[in-house]
Amino acid sequence: MIDFNEMVDNYLRRESYPKTIGKYYPSEIGTCMRKVWYSYKFPSSVGPDLLKIFEVGNIMHDLVVKILSSDKNPEIMLVSAEAPFKKEVDDFVISGRVDNIILVKASGKNILMEVKSTGSVDFVNKPADYNAMQLQLYMHIMNIHDGVLLYIDKKNLKSKVFKVDYNPEEAEMVINRFKALHKLLKMDALPDPESRAKHDKIWMCRNCEYRDKCYEETPSSARWL
Ligand code: SF4
Repeated sequence: MIDFNEMVDNYLRRESYPKTIGKYYPSEIGTCMRKVWYSYKFPSSVGPDLLKIFEVGNIMHDLVVKILSSDKNPEIMLVSAEAPFKKEVDDFVISGRVDNIILVKASGKNILMEVKSTGSVDFVNKPADYNAMQLQLYMHIMNIHDGVLLYIDKKNLKSKVFKVDYNPEEAEMVINRFKALHKLLKMDALPDPESRAKHDKIWMCRNCEYRDKCYEETPSSARWL
């Protein structure tokens, strides 16, 4: 009998390489600083379940590109997809890919569009902070000051679009987070367990692969959940 689950795992399996201190990624910087720090110091391979979730995200991104470039949607033109960029800051580099740049023909405006696939778009009523931070940075670096976040439901393709107003101070704050991360990595100094500071962030810890290590190093207290 064919074991298709195993075939999927085989297909998605890939080499993982340790990250290099001095090279940082916008998609991570809005998440927990300690978790990102651990990922540089104690690299862990991505498990098969997570690889499948990433692959579904890739499939959704490809679909969005097809929709944006279709003749059936003539009001929009896809200018670029997965446009790579690198930004040097002090002695480190921020590198990433902007999901989509689209031209709205009626206004002649270029807009950055970041795509996020979600389990249920019904529960998405505003952009997640860490997604908005990523988009702020892209708008700043690409010098395109109109941006939207598109959330698309993996099970039924329903979607919601949120405009994110460009704010140079917020973009600067994101760059400062990279500076702080870089400094802590170079000093080998563990960051605070950010996601355990507030009840609305603790969900990030639920599936964190460094959870045990984190609680061992900073037990729960009045300050840290
Ligand atoms: S358990 Fe929570 S606070 Fe600790 S590293 Fe993971 S996400 Fe951050």
